[in-house]
Amino acid sequence: MPETVVVVGGGYAGIAVAKALDDVADVVLVEPREALFHSVAALRGVVDPAWSGRLFLPYDRLLSRGRVVRDRAVRVDPTGVVLGSGARIDADFLVLATGSRYPFPAKTELEDTASATAAFRTAQTVLASVDRILLLGAGPVGLELAGEITAAWPDKSVTIVDPAPDVLSGPLPAALRAELRRQLEVRGVELLLGASLSEPPGTDPGTPGEFTVVTSTGGKITADLWFRCFGVVPVSDHLTADLVDARRPDGHVEVTPDLRLVGQRTVFVAGDLAATGEAPTASAAGRHAEIVAANIRALIDGAADLLRYEPPAPGIAVPLGPGGGASYSDELGLVGAATTAEIKGADLMVEFYRDYLGLT
Ligand SMILES: Cc1cc2nc3c(=O)[nH]c(=O)nc-3n(C[C@H](O)[C@H](O)[C@H](O)COP(=O)(O)OP(=O)(O)OC[C@H]3O[C@@H](n4cnc5c(N)ncnc54)[C@H](O)[C@@H]3O)c2cc1C
Repeated sequence: MPETVVVVGGGYAGIAVAKALDDVADVVLVEPREALFHSVAALRGVVDPAWSGRLFLPYDRLLSRGRVVRDRAVRVDPTGVVLGSGARIDADFLVLATGSRYPFPAKTELEDTASATAAFRTAQTVLASVDRILLLGAGPVGLELAGEITAAWPDKSVTIVDPAPDVLSGPLPAALRAELRRQLEVRGVELLLGASLSEPPGTDPGTPGEFTVVTSTGGKITADLWFRCFGVVPVSDHLTADLVDARRPDGHVEVTPDLRLVGQRTVFVAGDLAATGEAPTASAAGRHAEIVAANIRALIDGAADLLRYEPPAPGIAVPLGPGGGASYSDELGLVGAATTAEIKGADLMVEFYRDYLGLT
């Protein structure tokens, strides 16, 4: 009998592990969403109506032998998973790939495609109707959203506030930050760095309505709409029994160098959930998935030596709309708008993931 591999979470990490083991194990992918939410392209989904449908990529053709169970894992222990329906699935190997939450529009909690698409369409209508937008957070999401808004509507006023002294935290070169600041300035985006709000805006994020806020540096901002562009939170509240000890206070899960959950032989972790010390990215999720799938395959084959995961040097691609932005990696160095559009901005990797899911 083939071993059963239960993969919890069908994001970038989960689909890659499930697909890689489909030929060698009974794979069960547990995922409450109707389709993969392609968060890499989410921010274009709030400025361009043509994109809202491209953000949801169905799972139907991902696996040939295995199955996708549309449900949520509510309790996970080292030997299996209890679903929201109450059913239990026993596992020879478990892969925890439940990723992270992020405030809308970077991610959405809506699980059915029709409701989630409608939420993106509503956000487009709201954005189109307002003139002044405040974005809290000058990380990749805040910058990318400012880029999408100014590319779609060059006349709208966009202000970004962040308590950090510069855009993009983390070990990235100063020249990348300078290039992004330069392009944002050309687009008329106001960057208020080293500043925070004395009180949050009086409206809910994403809800139109004029408000005025005071900053810690004494300035006043009046805007019609705001979005929270910070606050990535790993999803690990369903871990029970021996697994819970590996959960850090911030929600990440401690892993060994071969990406097993610490203290476990058959439980692996991949993607944003894994405490590898990297920035949370789909590319890292894909790299974890390769190691996890290879190691499970090795254990199934009775091998003793497992691959170790080595995080690469940090890099990032930050598009500012379809044609702008800047990126950095060790291989490429610092590259500007044209290469960033090629790497990410033009199609936001939709075709790559459609192909991956067998949809082309
Ligand atoms: C706006 C934006 C742009 C980005 N751009 C890039 C980029 O250009 N390049 C890049 O590399 N990265 C990018 N990222 C980061 C990337 O999206 C994340 O790192 C990636 O989503 C992590 O993948 P994952 O598989 O770990 O988790 P997720 O994609 O978060 O998927 C986790 C899945 O688990 C499911 N799940 C959660 N709880 C349960 C449960 N209890 N039971 C079953 N299933 C569950 C969820 O429904 C979800 O489908 C971007 C992120 C955002 C928000």
